Amino acid sequence: MSLPDPLPRPPLIADPSLDVCPVCHGTGFEYDPVGRRSRRCVKCRGGAENLIERARIPARYRDSSFDTFRVNPSGEPQQSLVNAHLMCRRYVKDYPVERGLGLLFLGPCGVGKTHLAVATANALMRTKRVPCLFYDFRDLLKTVQETYNPQTQTTELAVLRPVYDADVLVLDELGAGKATEWVRDTITHILNTRYNEQKATIITSNYLDQPTERYDETLEDRIGVRLRSRLYEMCKTVQMFGDDYRQTYLSKRLLMQS
Ligand code: ADP
Repeated sequence: MSLPDPLPRPPLIADPSLDVCPVCHGTGFEYDPVGRRSRRCVKCRGGAENLIERARIPARYRDSSFDTFRVNPSGEPQQSLVNAHLMCRRYVKDYPVERGLGLLFLGPCGVGKTHLAVATANALMRTKRVPCLFYDFRDLLKTVQETYNPQTQTTELAVLRPVYDADVLVLDELGAGKATEWVRDTITHILNTRYNEQKATIITSNYLDQPTERYDETLEDRIGVRLRSRLYEMCKTVQMFGDDYRQTYLSKRLLMQS
């Protein structure tokens, strides 16, 4: 009698810098010799949870998913939210994408950019076991800056290695904070490195290509013309419009509950 294939899926974690589970080798499954079939890996709990734990996703967004994203927060479906939702779901379905194409979410504050960016990463980790990493733009730069302090033991490369290597990097709030020459050079270098390695980057920004009521600077003003132009090649743009969800809907719900 022939036995069923003990490991039906090829290893999906291709990144050697991450500790690949020695039992399932990143597949999330192991062979159960008693039941003579594959089962969820007991050591790494199936892989996805393990990836999610290491992805640095802030607690506020850990449960962000496509299911919890409302395309009709005001009652009527909002076209830009419907499109954004669809683009992200399609992105996950089509992943891995050609030339490591990423997503660039542009829109005003509170419209749900981070929610959808994290929902995309969560779906990639859960359904395709893709190693993802989340970084807030300002936190990333601060972490790099801290390595210049002689008292800090970590080197710049040690901090940046996982940022370069993650299959998918979510970079939140690009352009926020002080825009100095160092900031521009550092982020250009990081994103260029990922671009050359054909690794997908999912970016959010409150700065648009035109000045707005809230911000008189554009994304290009914040990150420089070279990097803005590179982003056109690196990412598909997801434009989102609408009210600040926190201000308009979350605060209303809290008022109704009180
Ligand atoms: P942005 O990144 O555009 O500033 P966030 O994604 O941080 O906005 O959204 C702010 C808060 O509102 C988050 O808690 C997010 O989960 C929630 N939120 C925003 N838009 C939606 C939506 N359309 N459906 C459900 N929750 C939303």
